[in-house]
Amino acid sequence: EDIILEVKNLKKYFPVRKGFLGKSTQYVKAVDDVSFYIKRGETLGLVGESGCGKSTTGRTIIRLYDPTDGEIIFNGNEIGKLNQKELRGFRKKIQMIFQDPYASLNSRMTVGDIIGESFDIHKIASGNERLERIHELLARVGLQPDHATRYPHEFSGGQRQRIGIARALAVQPEFIIADEPISALDVSIQAQVVNMLEDLQRDLNLTYLFIAHDLSMVKHISSRIGVMYLGKLVEITESDELYKNPVHPYTKALLSAIPIPDPNITKANKRIILQGDVPSPLNPPSGCRFRTRCKYAMPICSEVDPVLREISNNHSVACHLVGK
Ligand code: SF4
Ligand code: MG
Repeated sequence: EDIILEVKNLKKYFPVRKGFLGKSTQYVKAVDDVSFYIKRGETLGLVGESGCGKSTTGRTIIRLYDPTDGEIIFNGNEIGKLNQKELRGFRKKIQMIFQDPYASLNSRMTVGDIIGESFDIHKIASGNERLERIHELLARVGLQPDHATRYPHEFSGGQRQRIGIARALAVQPEFIIADEPISALDVSIQAQVVNMLEDLQRDLNLTYLFIAHDLSMVKHISSRIGVMYLGKLVEITESDELYKNPVHPYTKALLSAIPIPDPNITKANKRIILQGDVPSPLNPPSGCRFRTRCKYAMPICSEVDPVLREISNNHSVACHLVGK
């Protein structure tokens, strides 16, 4: 199979100064030994509560952050240790769409210049060709040519997200990391944007890493889904399998929280309320990080960190209840 991205044992730790005069350093282990792959043309959904490390994973893959450890293999090349200059060739291939389309658009630039900026940076097009391409991209995301001369504040949230998507498409990327691209939008607009992303994927052979905070948002767009908790990947499998046969207690709780009951999700009909809050990533529980909220926790759970292992074809889980 054609693997476009493979992440191996990825770690991203952020130092935090503590104690008298900030003399001791602790680490927030935002991403702690995470491994997965993405096949070309598919969408991998990455799901978890805020602070679970899903955004940090995306930002480390695109090298907004330098990884603390591990490998990021894109199209067969290890890009995790490349410096910014060496990364230049990959920059165009991987693009990111952000949660807040407004904050990510320069309010003093016209929409045309926001989209066309990368044509200038990468010397892709100028003059008439540049303008034609901008109009083409606006059409692709359902906007009009005359929108090019307007400013971001003149648009609705959904339209701004379309502008952000057009900007990402300008460099003809192969892989797009979408970090909660619809979370800030009205529910009525969310489906439109997801449908558009799916159309673009089919037409342009794009691969997506689609980051979301709950499982309802990723259901339709994802071919496979990974669930993260406190910096760890706790379950990953095909979408259908995850909804029909969730195994990790945390995945079950997330599934049960989907607001609209789905007749296909029989096991999750009863809402599972998790006890307590997500512990601080500065001081995560020993062993299984989910154990403080898990009603199945056993003595081994506080001692041994469960490793992610394949329990059936393409279905991996990190939990002591399974996979012995
Ligand atoms: Fe619960 Fe133990 Fe499984 Fe962690 S390893 S999810 S604490 S049963
Ligand atoms: Mg986030």
